[in-house]
Amino acid sequence: MIKRAASWAFGLACAAGLAATASACKAATPGTETVAAAPAEAGQKAASSVHLAASQLAQVRVEELSEHSPPDTLKATGTVEFNADRMSRILPPVAGQVQQLAVNVGDVVRKDDILFVLSSREVAAAIAEHLASHKDLDLAEKTFAMTQDLFDHQAASRMALQQSENERSKARSKVLQTEEVLQVLGLDGHPAEDATRLQSRIPMRSPIAGTVIERSVTNGQFVGPDNPPLMTIADLSAVWVQADVFERDLSRISVGQKAEVTTAAYPNDRFTAQVSRIATVVDGQTRTSKVRFLAANPDARLKPGMFASTSLYLPQPSSALTVPAKAVFVEGGRRFAYVQVGAQDFARRGVETAASGTDRLRIVSGLNVGDRVVSDGVLLLRQLDAGAPTQ
Ligand SMILES: [Zn+2]
Repeated sequence: MIKRAASWAFGLACAAGLAATASACKAATPGTETVAAAPAEAGQKAASSVHLAASQLAQVRVEELSEHSPPDTLKATGTVEFNADRMSRILPPVAGQVQQLAVNVGDVVRKDDILFVLSSREVAAAIAEHLASHKDLDLAEKTFAMTQDLFDHQAASRMALQQSENERSKARSKVLQTEEVLQVLGLDGHPAEDATRLQSRIPMRSPIAGTVIERSVTNGQFVGPDNPPLMTIADLSAVWVQADVFERDLSRISVGQKAEVTTAAYPNDRFTAQVSRIATVVDGQTRTSKVRFLAANPDARLKPGMFASTSLYLPQPSSALTVPAKAVFVEGGRRFAYVQVGAQDFARRGVETAASGTDRLRIVSGLNVGDRVVSDGVLLLRQLDAGAPTQ
């Protein structure tokens, strides 16, 4: 109550153009854009109410103020994009020929499905080298065991024993090294341990479940590590919506907030989403920032490139009264709203408001819980009220 009285006094000072400057008026309530309210007494004097005929009453809608105002939403428009966190570009690990190409653009693939096979001399060479390293290791192990036996029977020198031990550890690291090469090529484990299955073909598998969205390769084509990606797989089960949000609204948005996405393509459907990233820069031209929403995309109906609208549910400040923005009008530099004072009678009330997103204004002073505020038909009342004094 005390705070409110102070704010009234300030309103008076500002309105009367006393020593206070415009900036001082603003400074009275940091962080909110307030407009000086009409003085309370003057507001009550102005309560020469407007009487509406029954037919006119039908054009007016009234909202009773309560602590539980409808949730405020922040709307923004944007574009559907691929979820780059769930995209995979297929690059050839070695030079080779594409064979058994099994997928086309639009095909849905599971994780580890074989997309094509890469036939490569390099792979054949790497397998051969790995097999040879195993043979060398076998030999080195036998030599070491034999030397150890001889040494135990004083038939070999310590020097000879150490040398055979060195040879054995060298052979071991060679096996590991050539095995690593095979792993880089996508051949895990020991694919060619059995020499009869010696093969020079690498199965190229999809690293993720998704849809083939690009394919630049054809069957039989020779490719190398310098090639651009042969294929792109994208998981469309969730997509990004990149929306532009005004600088002034950024303070009300945080990562994780729930939102809804709608599109012109599916006007009756709402896709659930949440804020996943807020850009760190503001566009100097548009005064907006990119806010990324992660939207669930069942049936892959949200298509990259599509225009989309986002509605973000903003947390309500506790026990804050809000009115629809259209309930408040400015006249003579002050803000007013109409309140229902009788069955068919309405009076204007000076109000002090603060921005509260886009749809509603927060009441700083001038209105209370239970007040019946005109949310539709303000223009009609103003026309009828035109002759009446405003102070
Ligand atoms: Zn091996």
